Amino acid sequence: MKLHHHTAFSLAASGTLYLLTKSWGLAIASFIAGIFIDLDHFIDYFREHGINLDIKKFFRICKNAQFNKIILLFHGWEWLIVICTIAWCSGWDPLMTGIVIGLSHHMILDIFYNSKNLRAYSIIWRWSKGFEFDTVFPNLTPKKYEYKNSLDRT
Ligand SMILES: [Zn+2]
Repeated sequence: MKLHHHTAFSLAASGTLYLLTKSWGLAIASFIAGIFIDLDHFIDYFREHGINLDIKKFFRICKNAQFNKIILLFHGWEWLIVICTIAWCSGWDPLMTGIVIGLSHHMILDIFYNSKNLRAYSIIWRWSKGFEFDTVFPNLTPKKYEYKNSLDRT
């Protein structure tokens, strides 16, 4: 899913959470977690395309799935389980609960938009597949090769 979609959804979700709970901490934590989980795309981008701050190139690379490997360090059911356990142990502290909600709606939206394969959002499963992009996100692979072929024709 695209950044502006995540931002809009996170804003709406956080506004609703605030209306329901009157907790700024919970609402802001959900908003931030629902967007900034995607910072892990920079790790994959830097690893495969070198460290640079060309934001247009970054978004073009992500949009056209130009990755051989995809780690997505922060996108993982495993993290969600850990953070959910911490939130539960803290008596559902508003900040931890907001992070759980933000990460949850982000990953659910990613699944609907990027892959219907729930396993694709497990770090352990991606690791078992060698983090191979074409294996983890086979539905995005045609987009990747269409873009590569369009570059070859120019
Ligand atoms: Zn994401």
